[in-house]
Parts: sequence; structure tokens; C-alpha cells
Amino acid sequence: MSVQCSLSVPFAERRFIIMITVCNHNMCTGCMACVSQCSHHAIEIKNDIDAYNAMIQEEKCKRCNLCFDICPVNHPVQNNAPLKWYQGWANEESIRANASSGGVATSIADYVINKGGIVFSCVFHKGKFIFKMASTREELKQFQGSKYVKSNPMDIYRDIQHWVRLAENIPVLMIGLPCQIAGVKRAIPKKYSERLLTVDLICHGTPAPQILERFMAQYGLNLSEIKKISFRSKSHFQVDPLGSEKVISIPGVADCYMRAFLEGIVYTENCYQCPYARKERISDVTVGDSWGTELRQEMVSGVSLILCNTERGVELVENADLTLHEVNIQNAIANNQQLNQPISCPTKRRQFMRAIRKGMPFNRALARYFPLIYLRYVLKRIYIMLPVDPLKKHSGGYKDNLWH
Ligand SMILES: Cc1cc2nc3c(=O)[nH]c(=O)nc-3n(C[C@H](O)[C@H](O)[C@H](O)COP(=O)(O)OP(=O)(O)OC[C@H]3O[C@@H](n4cnc5c(N)ncnc54)[C@H](O)[C@@H]3O)c2cc1C
Repeated sequence: MSVQCSLSVPFAERRFIIMITVCNHNMCTGCMACVSQCSHHAIEIKNDIDAYNAMIQEEKCKRCNLCFDICPVNHPVQNNAPLKWYQGWANEESIRANASSGGVATSIADYVINKGGIVFSCVFHKGKFIFKMASTREELKQFQGSKYVKSNPMDIYRDIQHWVRLAENIPVLMIGLPCQIAGVKRAIPKKYSERLLTVDLICHGTPAPQILERFMAQYGLNLSEIKKISFRSKSHFQVDPLGSEKVISIPGVADCYMRAFLEGIVYTENCYQCPYARKERISDVTVGDSWGTELRQEMVSGVSLILCNTERGVELVENADLTLHEVNIQNAIANNQQLNQPISCPTKRRQFMRAIRKGMPFNRALARYFPLIYLRYVLKRIYIMLPVDPLKKHSGGYKDNLWH
């Protein structure tokens, strides 16, 4: 049996336990490829908030090794240097307006739907960040917007497998985080996976959903009771439970969740060693934000950075209803660290996570272990309320010029 054996020392228990995991200890991305393919239901994802592990339950395991073989952490997916780089946005105003960035992901999805295809991507549903299928333009709306949290693609493996096998002429597109695209690509037999069109997002890293739950709980909000949630409106990064009367932060100030997210404090352990944080990509198309663009006046409405990594990707991008501009590649890379390397793990992250696990309120834990970041948040709240020219106020993005 070629599964790996890892030693774990959970803080809560403070003793050694032995875990048999599909990939290296704490390196699970939560892509769910192994869980979805194990017909013996022998794998369970252990979520310790600061790390995921795919645990093999020995009593159910039939030693087939399938989980080990398909795991993209054990067997990396091939990547490609981009063939073309663009920056741009959706021509359809409503798509651009409702998107986090330029609405490029949705426009590509729209193109696929118009060709009679189907699209799989992430939705917020009953407190969970899961994946669903869309076959109409109307259904695409549920996907719009970035959810800055680890989503769960478990439900779509079977459907994607079904559709790519069944329908040679129906385009099937998946939009997701690079680690999720890798999981699906590994799980589907190669001859079928080549039929799958893929769009991945440039990714900073993802926190476990429990981190968001803890943050919301401070404001008396229960994630499972919230109907809609937004994390961002263009360059305003704020958790916004849409439709709720509770306001978490004042407009223009990134709240403590988004601060901790942007500073890289709250991700699961694997994200700090992410193999996808590079310019060579595993999907047909990669989309992110065009930080550092010279098209500054367009940033208010959203400008996406677009990497076409395969011929199919070039075709998708050039045929979708998009406004495309050339982009200075060196400048784009310099302004988007995740195209070079994963974010580094802050020194006090471990203590912060331990405090969160023990039940310390989110904002208090941030103030205790990252006092400077918390102080900046407080100062920003004060600054935003001062009678200064509003155009001079920044709202906090992946790069917040006010503070960095
Ligand atoms: C966790 C996370 C970290 C990111 N980090 C960076 C970064 O460091 N630099 C950068 O340039 N861009 C980053 N992005 C990408 C950026 O936020 C936009 O999603 C991207 O530019 C696409 O914008 P759009 O307007 O084209 O998307 P839209 O047209 O609004 O479509 C967004 C698509 O992404 C899918 N999606 C959203 N959230 C998730 C999720 N959690 N899991 C899976 N799929 C999801 C949606 O379902 C939808 O299909 C990140 C996105 C996420 C979710």
C-alpha cells in the first residue's frame, strides 16, 4: 500500500497521533478528487481550520491506491507558459458591473453557453461555498463575484465526468481555483479531460470557511442564515452580507477578515507552498486583476488580466464578447506576486490560528497577534471619516498604496 504515513501534533490535543493521509501532512488543497473517486468512501477530509488533510480510514480502504494516484499534490498537472497575454473587460455592462474584476470569467462562460455548452463554477448556497452547473445565461448569474474563501467542488466531479464522456460536441467549462482545476483534471481519464475547457483564477490563497464563520459570529451573523454575500466591489474589499441589516465595516475600509486575507494570515497551510503561484498555468485561460495597469480610469469599472495558456484558451478569449488590450507583461507580473511565488507565511500565523481554534473572537486575535495590521485598520476607519477629498482615499486592494 503506497499511502503516506504522517505524524501530526495538533495543538488542541498536544500529543502525537498517527494519520494516514493521501498526500503529505497539511498539504491537502481540499480539491476533493480523492474523496470523489473512492467508491469505498474510505477518505475523509479533516479540516483543522489552518490545514486540511485527506485521511484514509483503514477499515474501509481496499488498498487500490486510486486516491494516491489521482492526487494532484502527489502527481502535479502539466503547466504551460502563456501563449498570449491581455487585459480587458466584458463588453456587456451588467456582466462587468456585477463582477469582482472585469467580468472576463463570466463573459467566457457566456460564450460557452451561447455555443450550447455548460459551465461549472462556485456559488454561495445555504451558508456553503459549493460548485454547481449552469446551462443558461440566467444560471450564470449565480457564479458572479469572487468568494475569498476555500470552496468545495465535491459535487461536480460526477457531473463533469458524465458530461465530458457523453458529449463530444457540447463544450464543458469549469471555472475555479487552480488547485481545483488540477483535481478535476487528475480525476477524469486523460482522453476525456482534454475535452474539458478550464479557466482558473490567479489565487492569493484561501481560508477555510470556518474562519469566515468565526468572523461573522462576532457581528451576530450566522453564515448559514445569510442569503447572499459579497466580498468585493471592484477595489473595495469588504465582507458584505447582502440584504442583512448588519453592517460590518464602514464603506471604503477593508474589514478585519479582508485585511487578514490580503495579508496572507488566514490561509490553509498548503497555500504557502502553492505550486500554481507561477506564470506557467494549468488551465486554458487564467484570469486575475490587472493591477498596475496604465488604464487607470478603467479600474473603477474593473480590468482583468488574462493569460491565454493554450490554443483553445486563445480561441475562447478572442471569441468571447470582450474588450481586449495589450498588456505590459513584466509590469503585470511585478504587480501580481501570485504569478511569481506563493505568499509567505507570517510568523505569528500559528499563534493566531491557535487562538481562533480556542474560540478567541476574530478581531481580538488579529489585534493581539498582528497589532500593526489591526492598528492600520483602526486608523483607516478614522481616516475615511475625515473630511478629506474622497478621491484621495484608497479602499484597500491586493496592493493598498495607503499602507504599503
Ligand atoms: C480566493 C481568491 C483569491 C484571489 N487572489 C487573487 C490575486 O492574488 N490576484 C489576482 O489578480 N486575482 C485574484 N483573484 C481573482 C479575482 O478576485 C477575480 O476572481 C478574477 O480577476 C476574475 O474576475 P472576473 O471579474 O473575471 O470574475 P467574474 O466574472 O466575477 O467571475 C468569477 C468566477 O470565479 C468563480 N469563483 C469565485 N470565487 C471562487 C472560489 N472561492 N472558488 C472557486 N471559484 C470561484 C466564480 O464562481 C465565477 O465563475 C482571487 C480570487 C479568489 C476567489
